Amino acid sequence: MNDAVAPALRARIETAVDFDAIVIGAGVSGLYQLYRLREIGMTTRVFEAGSGVGGTWYWNRYPGARFDSESWSYGFSFSQELLDEWDWEEHFAGQPETERYLNHVADKFDLRRDIQFDTRVVAAHYQEDSHSWNVTLDDGSHCVSRFLITAVGVLSAPVMPRVPGIESFKGQSCHTHDWPREPVSFEGKRIAVIGTGATGIQTITEVAKTAGSLTVFQRTPQWSAPLHNSKVTAEEMSEIRKNYTEIFARCQETVGCFIHTPDPRSVFEVTEAEREAFWDKLYGEPGFGIWMGNFRDVLTDLEANRLMSEFLARKIRERVEDPVVAEKLIPVTYGFGTRRVPMESGYFEVYNQPNVTLVDLNDTPIECITPDGIRTSDAEHDFDMIIYATGFDAITGAFDRIDIRGVGGVSLKDKWAETPVTFLGILVDGFPNFLMVMGPHAGLGNFPRAVEYTSDWVTDLIRHGRERGMTRLDATKAAAKAWTDHVIEVNDGLLFTEVDSWMTGVNHNVEGRHIRRVVRYSGGHPAFRRRCEEVTAGGYQEVSMD
Ligand code: NAP
Repeated sequence: MNDAVAPALRARIETAVDFDAIVIGAGVSGLYQLYRLREIGMTTRVFEAGSGVGGTWYWNRYPGARFDSESWSYGFSFSQELLDEWDWEEHFAGQPETERYLNHVADKFDLRRDIQFDTRVVAAHYQEDSHSWNVTLDDGSHCVSRFLITAVGVLSAPVMPRVPGIESFKGQSCHTHDWPREPVSFEGKRIAVIGTGATGIQTITEVAKTAGSLTVFQRTPQWSAPLHNSKVTAEEMSEIRKNYTEIFARCQETVGCFIHTPDPRSVFEVTEAEREAFWDKLYGEPGFGIWMGNFRDVLTDLEANRLMSEFLARKIRERVEDPVVAEKLIPVTYGFGTRRVPMESGYFEVYNQPNVTLVDLNDTPIECITPDGIRTSDAEHDFDMIIYATGFDAITGAFDRIDIRGVGGVSLKDKWAETPVTFLGILVDGFPNFLMVMGPHAGLGNFPRAVEYTSDWVTDLIRHGRERGMTRLDATKAAAKAWTDHVIEVNDGLLFTEVDSWMTGVNHNVEGRHIRRVVRYSGGHPAFRRRCEEVTAGGYQEVSMD
């Protein structure tokens, strides 16, 4: 602590806290952050709104929910024992398997004793006189901590469509994020699904198997490609285990921390036959290879992107029997990969089933939800159940739902009203001792890979401050501006920046979120880590401490 701090204030700073740190959320990032803070001897309390650990994998228990990235590249890498003992059952694990895995992690490292479940943080105010955070919980109680660390996820604030009458519906209805814990049967029922993002596509494919009738309400179709999931055999698991070091090292080298690396060739360097053969190969392989392992210019060059989109359009036409329906399932307003590519397992064939109907909302928009179902501009559709797969107020939404106030009572929501301002996606100037694991401006991708690095960096920064007797850490204004300018600059010119989606911060169901914002870092994880390492090597000059 700075010698200039008056003794009375010093005493207050030293005694004021209930916990050294409060962590919001017990998902992938909250669990790992707790583990790391314990290692450096910090008393920590994690507040979790759910009744169990897992975050995304606790809440999203909708039918068909599963990884789109390889399970074995997604697990934590920090514990050899954990790697040695956990066998993945599927190459792309379903939600139950992932939830089991995260429960296993919580048990193995005895994390639950510091987690308070069924508790939502509603407000957090920085107290300048004691360098601490006063945190308000949803039961009205308060507690105080030196550090406040958010581990709230990027897709955790579910959003319902802005249509009238939702409450009037007499049947069963829910958002996919808030799926009931008890089994839901679709047998013989009339089901509606609104939304065809990655979640909708998984849900629709599963519900179609047993529903009496399924009506899909689609606004924007998707460039979806086959997942090719399969069981992990004992031989494969033992091979994976032998290769964990290489697998994780490879993830560290790629832009999104996935195992797939782009092909160094340009679309235009190969013959048409070679191009088609390569795309056919990618289409037949498991996982994100078709998105992340494609020709190097597919996501950056308009013409290359158009050719790839045409290839996928042909695939959709081959797979969907009714040509009118096929055309409705082919995106026309954006190119392949400029939105997050949803992986599918028989999605397009669902529309060949007699029990499935596609309603194109561009032709016949939803007017309202009625007590019996959904009224579009041309028909009344009656349902027993309506499933809202309508997505999230992504990245900043979970922050906006907590009343977070920094120095001088400034609200984070107001500060970020137009666009987020952060240092490394971890610190926010004017919000001392507030650290974000996977906040806005973080690089997205294979989540646990990014989480482990970011939590380690956060932990090292706190340890650095504590070892020097500092009780207040804050990014300088200049550092936050420089990082934010850099994030905006590297975003420029990429094809996805021209498309509305949660990745560009747009959600038409949320007030004020109809304009694109730069909400994530597109410079890639290797560049992000290099910048973090420079900051550490320079002795954290970008962070003021006292
Ligand atoms: P999303 O991609 O934002 O999709 C929401 C869907 O709801 C879109 O089709 C959207 O249409 C539609 N919608 C929203 N409001 C509507 C309205 N008022 N009327 C009609 N349709 C409306 O959300 P998501 O599918 O939940 O996926 C979000 C992200 O979660 C994914 O991109 C992915 O990163 C992650 N996720 C991952 C996995 C996995 O790893 N396997 C699985 C699921 C989700 P518009 O497109 O026209 O807005």
